[in-house]
Amino acid sequence: MIRSITQQKPEEELDRLLDGLGRVFIVGCGTCTTLTNTGGAPQVDAMKEAQTKKGKLITGTVVLPVACDNISKEALAECGQQIGLADALLVMSCAFGVQTIARQIKKVVVPALDTLFIGKETDVGLFDEICSQCGACIIGETGGICPVTSCHKGLVNGPCGGTNDGMCEIDRKKDCAWTMIYNRLRDLDRLDAMKTLQKPRNHHGGEPRPGKLRLASS
Ligand code: SF4
Ligand code: SF4
Repeated sequence: MIRSITQQKPEEELDRLLDGLGRVFIVGCGTCTTLTNTGGAPQVDAMKEAQTKKGKLITGTVVLPVACDNISKEALAECGQQIGLADALLVMSCAFGVQTIARQIKKVVVPALDTLFIGKETDVGLFDEICSQCGACIIGETGGICPVTSCHKGLVNGPCGGTNDGMCEIDRKKDCAWTMIYNRLRDLDRLDAMKTLQKPRNHHGGEPRPGKLRLASS
């Protein structure tokens, strides 16, 4: 299962973002942040308690089924009165959900969480980072394994000199991403791809980002 992986913002940052906003409506998400225990019903309740202790008036709470879906508009409309009383919405979803809500409601929107990466659940409650959406995907040349997220140094031309018996020099319990890439390419009989020299990365994501993308109609 693929999820947006989030973690709660540091308390000081949240205090700063909510400074001067006395009445707050809290929004959780019933999908990713429920699964990762960062913005489901229990976390929304805990946030309500914590913010009340800080002197905020919580005008209401809701856990949307899927915060990043446009249908959130209808779910939020059902809480229109409580939202109307609030100075701000404190949103416990990933950044996609926060932005979806910000586009639907004319109200200050404060994210309670930081969105870290797109993760795949590999064990109960354990998510592997599989893509940081760098915008210049090279996994077609690395056997389908992403070195940007799997290599501790994010090297796109690897391995570094520290790989040792297939393990990473930075975390000796972790497989070296570039050894995994090598093994995979060898198994696929595509070791030539190891010779491809990747150009220096543009950390703004390759070509200038379009900001908007229309999918080709089928
Ligand atoms: S190379 Fe970039 S886009 Fe491709 S999987 Fe890795 S982080 Fe994601
Ligand atoms: S040992 Fe492998 S995974 Fe670790 S930093 Fe070097 S190339 Fe990357």
